[in-house]
Amino acid sequence: MRIGIDIDNVLCDFTRSFLTYTNEKMGASFRYEDVVQYALWTLWDGTMEEGVALVKDFFSSRHARKMLPLDGAQEAVKKLRSSGHDLSLITSRFLEHRPITDEWLAKHFPDNPFLEIHFSDNIHTKKERQTKADICRNLRVDTLIEDGAHYAIECAPVCQQVILLDHPWNRNSSLPTNVRRAYSWPEVAELIQKSLTTF
Ligand SMILES: [Mg+2]
Repeated sequence: MRIGIDIDNVLCDFTRSFLTYTNEKMGASFRYEDVVQYALWTLWDGTMEEGVALVKDFFSSRHARKMLPLDGAQEAVKKLRSSGHDLSLITSRFLEHRPITDEWLAKHFPDNPFLEIHFSDNIHTKKERQTKADICRNLRVDTLIEDGAHYAIECAPVCQQVILLDHPWNRNSSLPTNVRRAYSWPEVAELIQKSLTTF
């Protein structure tokens, strides 16, 4: 099976590190549970431009290098790869963050279980690059693992299934029937295993 895997908040615990950085910078005390929208800047009633600037500042800070993998991600990825699945990373990070992304992946996934990494368009790059759905279609992704409900909805028609890793910011969307919610990485692996018999 070809599996597409998002990076931030799927492989990598982005939001907790970002909040540590933001709280330090703004003297705020935002918690993970407070992030109920994908658009982070709604936390402080900011603008998208402020949000983008802060994300870029974060990626050049020491906090970005301290991001940890999500619980169970390393073990599950290893297992999926050793079961023979093709794993492709699909991220909407900015291209300028490619070096820090490569560095983080080499540190936390030293066996390099991924075939490739694709940088998709995001709401800030304004259609300069392929969308996640374009990439899933071109790669013939069977299963996409995502945390953004809008990306799950966009990619559902071109994938057999999308597995949405549960987070506070993706709980309020109504989802297509082939989008399945998982509460942990072991559950992601289980859903993939079960779907092998139905695809
Ligand atoms: Mg993500």
